[in-house]
Amino acid sequence: MSINEAAYKDLKAIADKAGATLVAVSKTKPAETLLELYQLGHRDFGENYVQELVDKRAELPKDIRWHFIGHLQTNKVKYIAPFVHLIHGVDSWKLLSEINRQGLRWKTTINVLLQMHIAREETKFGLSEEELRDVIASLADEPLPNIRVKGMMGMASFTEDKKKIESEFSELKKIYDAHATLKTSNISFGILSMGMSGDYDIALQKGSNMIRIGSKIFGSRSYT
Ligand SMILES: *Cc1c(COP(=O)(O)O)cnc(C)c1O
Repeated sequence: MSINEAAYKDLKAIADKAGATLVAVSKTKPAETLLELYQLGHRDFGENYVQELVDKRAELPKDIRWHFIGHLQTNKVKYIAPFVHLIHGVDSWKLLSEINRQGLRWKTTINVLLQMHIAREETKFGLSEEELRDVIASLADEPLPNIRVKGMMGMASFTEDKKKIESEFSELKKIYDAHATLKTSNISFGILSMGMSGDYDIALQKGSNMIRIGSKIFGSRSYT
């Protein structure tokens, strides 16, 4: 098992040129494989499963920036709270409050992105615009001091239809821009996380500044 070094270097150059952060999505891959990429200087890694993330962190250098990109259950926040760099997929007030509670407990401020539901079918995760308004209003009423909302994350439909992907990413960029000037004690936008192996080029064209790439760097995943 090994990384695709040439593909990684291409992606890194593309991301750098666009001023975007490249998050290497390493779910299902063993720690040795992540270490190969680490040795090329890479530090931003994304994981989807809490236990897997906690296990890999124990084995790997401490200066890795761990991004949690999966669907996070409230009862598991406590395991990643003390060290996580950025939680991408926050899509409920309940989860946001629990992240704040764990931040308080660990005396830290936890960076989060609000996940927006932009794909027409595929996934049930993510906030609608109406739910987003509610979350922002709730934050005004009850500012959660141990979180920082740093921006938004979204996933386009899994489709060959480029036009559809473009319009979904455009829509997310529009929602992002509409909130980018909102500055409160714990909202400070700067990150728009969109784009994966199959659609990062479109995402960057549409204004993404953080791409999450798995299979293009690590090869396809086997869930055995
Ligand atoms: C797995 C995953 C990725 C990476 O997917 P690839 O298509 O392998 O690049 C990106 N974002 C999320 C949320 C994921 O679950």
